[in-house]
Amino acid sequence: MAAIGHFIDGEEAADPCSDFGDVFNPATGRLSARVALADDQTTLTAIAAAAAALPGWAGTPALRRARVMFRFRDLLDRHAADLAQIISSEHGKLLDDALGEVTRGLEVVEFACGIPQMLKGEFSENVGTGIDSWSLRQPVGVCAGITPFNFPAMVPMWMFPVAVACGNTFVLKPSEKDPSAPMFLARLLSEAGLPDGVFNVVNGAKAAVDTLLTDPRVGAVSFVGSTPVAEYIYTTAGAHGKRVQALGGAKNHMVVMPDADMEQAARALMGAAFGSAGERCMAISAAVAVGDAGDRLIETIAPMVRGLKVGPAGSEGAEMGPLVTSEHRDRVCGYVKLGVEEGADLVVDGRNVEVPGHPQGFYLGGCLFDHVKPGMRIYHEEIFGPVLVVLRATDLDQALRLVNEHEFGNGSAIFTSDGSSARRFENAVQAGMVGINVPIPVPMAFHSFGGWKRSLFGPLHMHGPDGVRFYTRLKTVTARWPDQVPAKTEYTMPTMK
Ligand code: NAD
Repeated sequence: MAAIGHFIDGEEAADPCSDFGDVFNPATGRLSARVALADDQTTLTAIAAAAAALPGWAGTPALRRARVMFRFRDLLDRHAADLAQIISSEHGKLLDDALGEVTRGLEVVEFACGIPQMLKGEFSENVGTGIDSWSLRQPVGVCAGITPFNFPAMVPMWMFPVAVACGNTFVLKPSEKDPSAPMFLARLLSEAGLPDGVFNVVNGAKAAVDTLLTDPRVGAVSFVGSTPVAEYIYTTAGAHGKRVQALGGAKNHMVVMPDADMEQAARALMGAAFGSAGERCMAISAAVAVGDAGDRLIETIAPMVRGLKVGPAGSEGAEMGPLVTSEHRDRVCGYVKLGVEEGADLVVDGRNVEVPGHPQGFYLGGCLFDHVKPGMRIYHEEIFGPVLVVLRATDLDQALRLVNEHEFGNGSAIFTSDGSSARRFENAVQAGMVGINVPIPVPMAFHSFGGWKRSLFGPLHMHGPDGVRFYTRLKTVTARWPDQVPAKTEYTMPTMK
């Protein structure tokens, strides 16, 4: 049985003393490794390594830091297939999907390669007579990242490439469900020439997180995961004086207008709802069909959901893999049962799916509910599985009200061929990321990613320009030389006259 430890100060560190968590291969249902769950002492050692590496790394010219990122980018590209394999073996997602995850992470590394350009300050000559003023961005210090199971490579790469390129050092606490991908990334960073201690991985659970949230040496905390934990991270780390960005859960809506191309909308909805078994924070889990689009949408999509091919990564024609753990699969099945009890119409029930040769795998077929109402828990709560709920609305105003009254506001999409409906939707929708005939509007690495309402706690989104703002502190300097200093002492507030 493989034992996964930590990566601290440039070395893999076994951890025979701590508790262990089980890591499964979801496709077979077999236990594949045991991961160390760091105690306070191990986490403090990682923070100490990051703090010791900070002065040297923060003082390294941005161009040299960028060159490490260029080498890391090349290694990542070369090992993309290996990394995708590792992701798939612990998460369960299909290989092409895992490769897509690696690419979206790699794009953030490419953005970080351009960090000297992003760190350029601003300069104003003569803000007063003989006085110049300029602003510069300096690293925050030791940064912590706490990440979820569903993107074990991409979500850490939303954070650390930008943080490290900005001159910070980093301690990552990845999900204990699929820890091998972040460990692989740590090895590649080392191979790329990143100095020891700049990037550290502490595997673990709540105890490790709590140490990161409260240690005075940590200056910034980035979190991605469920909303209750995001809120806890935001309040706890905030109370300990740290800057925080905490991205939470979602219930992403897709509004389907009567004038939409129904075939296109249905195909887009299938990929967005059932890709990665619905375990994506940007998955569409609620469709709002407007007017007569409702019956047409259900007629088109129901046979597609029934025909969805479920199987392990690499199997012929598989369109959807297993869920991450048997507990999570059971939880999602619990929601399907609840939806029936709540009175929604279960059009397709995927609970009895069978995958030949893999009776112990954590599989669930696609499930489709129609006539779902706002009061139902299957609509209100995040299910995070292959369950799509369809609601009906009479017009765009009612559809918008539904989207805007939901507690989450991560992504939202409209499918229409009418520019004026699209424009109204884009303007009025309460969500951080909006798609127009694009079901999963994940911003590219050079824009920033984040939701609204209870999908994000904190003012700044991740990666792109907001990432640079988050991982740097602004300093503004005002200067004049002795020959410009007035002879007379000034006691009044300096102003421009
Ligand atoms: P999770 O909240 O259970 O765990 C996320 C991280 O927090 C893990 O590292 C975990 O070890 C840690 N953690 C869990 N409970 C904790 C506690 N009580 N105290 C301190 N730390 C704790 O999330 P998950 O199940 O791994 O991931 C799925 C969730 O992540 C979904 O809600 C999904 O929507 C969300 N997500 C959001 C985004 C986004 O961009 N908004 C992206 C990906 C995933």
